[in-house]
Amino acid sequence: MRPHVVVNVAISADGKLSTRERRQVKISGSEDFERVDRLKAGCDAVMVGIGTVLADNPSLTIKSEELKRERRAQGWDEHPIRVVVDSTARIPFASSILTRGTGKRVVAVSQRADPLTVAGLKKIATVIVAGEQEVDLAALIDRLGAMGVRQLMVEGGGTLIAGLFAAGLVDELYTFVGNIVIGGKDAPTLADGAGFVREAEFSRLTLVESTRIGDGILLHWNIEPRSQ
Ligand code: NAP
Repeated sequence: MRPHVVVNVAISADGKLSTRERRQVKISGSEDFERVDRLKAGCDAVMVGIGTVLADNPSLTIKSEELKRERRAQGWDEHPIRVVVDSTARIPFASSILTRGTGKRVVAVSQRADPLTVAGLKKIATVIVAGEQEVDLAALIDRLGAMGVRQLMVEGGGTLIAGLFAAGLVDELYTFVGNIVIGGKDAPTLADGAGFVREAEFSRLTLVESTRIGDGILLHWNIEPRSQ
């Protein structure tokens, strides 16, 4: 069964995920951090692209002790499975995702990845090979489903999210819009990649809810299924 895919990001008022040098920016506050922690704690797996790992070095762990306790009480690992999309296995073995917190890690690579690096990675993570040149996202998500993942959260960045939209794999989107302008035509946005040209390729969203959080706004969207 294909997992339900929820994308969650924070963007500036001008739609940027970070600066043009890909430096992480604090866009939201503690109230939104808690919401994201809760959303993550309700998921079986959380996924990012290698660009985010190299730029931000996130651990993607659950921060709240109470949420960790609740997960343990349900018989789950303290943290969701952490998944990195990384065609050529560039992930540093010392990255926080691979070293911080207990639980399962998955590194998804393509057939291009160096076999020796993959062999090393297999000692510390589950490696999924999907796709020839880049990671085949549909195949990866099916494999995660086969591992028992029902609810998958995606935390960015813009290239991975664009790939997921292009493949019609996103079910829900949470966008926190913060009260700053970052600017820069080369600064990452919510969906980068090559961009869509034909209207038929655009993803259509239905607004579920808009909620003021501090000085920003949280937009919750459902993604309409693609007409084939
Ligand atoms: P990214 O989306 O995290 O990772 C993209 C990389 O994933 C690609 O370059 C590619 O690298 C790999 N990939 C493999 N297969 C893919 C596929 N089928 N489709 C798409 N990507 C695939 O990187 P990014 O776009 O550079 O975003 C990173 C920036 O976003 C950072 O500045 C970070 O701070 C920011 N960010 C912000 C938020 C927020 O909520 N504000 C959240 C996350 C990240 P390979 O070819 O090497 O595999």
